Amino acid sequence: MTVTIAREGRIAVVTVDNPPVNALSKALRQALVEAVAALDADAAVEAVVLACAGRTFIAGADVNEFGRPPEPPHLPDVVAAIEAAQKPWVAAIHGSALGGGLEVALGCAWRVAVPSASLGLPEVKLGLVPGAGGTVRLPRLIGPAAAVDLVTGGNPVGAKKAQELGLVDAIIDGDLSAGAVAFAEEIAGKPAPQPISARDVVPVEAGFWEAVEKSVAAKAKREAAPLRALASVRNACGTDFASAMAFERATFLDLRGSEQAAALRHVFFAERAAPRPPELAGVSPLPLRSAAVVGGGTMGAGIAAALRDAGLPVVLIERDAAAVERGIANVRSIFDGSVKRGRIAAETAAERMAGLTGSDDYGLLADTDLVIEAVFEDLAVKRAVFEKLSEVCRADAVLATNTSYLDPQAISEGIARPERFLGLHFFSPAHVMKLLEIVPTDKTAPETLATGFSLARLLKKIPVRAGICDGFIGNRILKVTRAQAERLLLSGATPSAVDAALRAFGLPMGPFEAQDLGGLDIAAFQRKAARERGETPFAPVAERLCALNRLGQKTGGGWYDYAPGERTPRPSDAVAAIIAEEAAGRPQRDWSEAEIADAIVLPMVNEAVRILGEGVALRPADIDLVKIHGYGFPRWRGGPMHHAEAQGLAEVVAVLERLAAEGLADPPSGGLRRAAEAGGFSAGGR
Ligand code: NAD
Repeated sequence: MTVTIAREGRIAVVTVDNPPVNALSKALRQALVEAVAALDADAAVEAVVLACAGRTFIAGADVNEFGRPPEPPHLPDVVAAIEAAQKPWVAAIHGSALGGGLEVALGCAWRVAVPSASLGLPEVKLGLVPGAGGTVRLPRLIGPAAAVDLVTGGNPVGAKKAQELGLVDAIIDGDLSAGAVAFAEEIAGKPAPQPISARDVVPVEAGFWEAVEKSVAAKAKREAAPLRALASVRNACGTDFASAMAFERATFLDLRGSEQAAALRHVFFAERAAPRPPELAGVSPLPLRSAAVVGGGTMGAGIAAALRDAGLPVVLIERDAAAVERGIANVRSIFDGSVKRGRIAAETAAERMAGLTGSDDYGLLADTDLVIEAVFEDLAVKRAVFEKLSEVCRADAVLATNTSYLDPQAISEGIARPERFLGLHFFSPAHVMKLLEIVPTDKTAPETLATGFSLARLLKKIPVRAGICDGFIGNRILKVTRAQAERLLLSGATPSAVDAALRAFGLPMGPFEAQDLGGLDIAAFQRKAARERGETPFAPVAERLCALNRLGQKTGGGWYDYAPGERTPRPSDAVAAIIAEEAAGRPQRDWSEAEIADAIVLPMVNEAVRILGEGVALRPADIDLVKIHGYGFPRWRGGPMHHAEAQGLAEVVAVLERLAAEGLADPPSGGLRRAAEAGGFSAGGR
């Protein structure tokens, strides 16, 4: 880490160089305080530019200091020192000014930025509030309403928007240092603006805070940080600067030690580690310059859209001309939807479509780097597709299947270059869902596997390596979720009670609502395959609903009834009668919401430990990423494995033993017991 001071006439340029992202380490905080003192003492300096080397302005806190007790100099004091400097400081922003980085910029008298810069306070995403005046200075600079949006949402804004808000004073086109020095020349020697800390807050209209609180609470659900951040902004708008800073700091320190912040930190680090698995260190991926998708249905269209979003030219192959047309229309409707929701401009959608070629001619794939198959879930159909691909594609082209439940090994049998084959399991809708399970066969070459991970980076997805088994990681655990949900029904809980309990736990939807939305036939198909393999899947009620063609919303009824054209689930007498028949003779009991959540989530953990033991998943954190990014498990709980550790593995074992004694779950596995004895998964869960 270096902080250098250069002179350009009466302007001093302080340059921070702390690769990779100029994070606010203790050493940097110290160096900034020293720079203020040195420049205050230098009579020849009339203004100061604060700039950063490398790809970004100060991008935020130092992740190595996360979760550790804060050490002096504390950031609020650093920002106060810059604000109190006798010479005006100008923050020159490129890349990102996030969290503490933006708070440092708020200490400066002026802020200038390049057009591509982004500014924000993302602390709530780590379960925190800004801790160095973000919630106090921001409303004094840009007004309460804009400050609330930035602080409680945690999403950064671009330079142009920041200028409209009054967060940035000037946009510098061209060379940032030259532009910032010219800006400093202009303001040097003139009266400095009033420090932000000394400004008054613009008054709000009556009812403003109540309305904002309602909307923040609705979005945050059970996440604590957004409401605490709002409380800090609100407090800052009604009190003097020093009291507001004390309130913010107390909130920050309180949340720092919270379970939610620990869970969100865990997910943050898991996400950072996911794209670079240690087992692929030193392995180079193959180039990804073009892609093709075979099958333009639900998944194929979503995958094609994701590939176009990442800028790759895409060929979409279907069975015949009519199917090609349908496939292209499916992709178009995805982009049209994004335009309608204001996510992309109409021109962008047109440009995305222009890079998509539909055809039934495999000959177009002769020079394609990556082909992803997303045809019907049928082994013979898939094998025929790969046979053709083997004939036409380049020898080093990567060929991937998006199968959900078939064995990729079996799909790849007989193909010319099995070392270039792997499973790439996307989640629906594929252009939205962040998870990508990457499934090598025993013949997949390391560089092919590395290409799967580099594809995930390109598509901005979270890659998780999964081994071959029925359903890979995510859907295998989902099977347990469904079976547990039915066990609850047969012992006294209702579908609405189970769904409500899981929503209260933090999932966007309960298991029965989710099945009604996706269709009960998907799981029925999977159970049929399992029975053919000699297994005995547990779904007595679901089997009867399928036999009655109650397949969910699409047939007007499933676990719930639906009024024609409506999606609101209504408890069904017919389903209640079936449950009563299937439950006859079984012991019935009352279920609290917490007991229901335990009876569903903890058996998921038990299965996950088996999955780890078999090597189907490599790390407990991978399981957490799968459930968070593929199935809506609440991020603030850190995923099922982190949640179980936070609950205490000994307690998890005890709950599973009680459930097992009542015949309501499998007993805890050996791996889970060992992990409980070892005090955590990292020690004993493998
Ligand atoms: P779908 O029925 O919507 O689409 C399949 C498409 O493949 C159809 O458009 C069909 O015309 C086309 N097709 C069939 N045979 C073909 C051939 N020989 N050549 C070219 N095109 C052909 O199915 P889907 O839901 O998109 O599923 C596709 C694959 O993705 C399946 O393997 C499925 O298990 C898997 N998958 C589905 C989901 C999901 O939620 N739907 C999630 C992950 C994975």
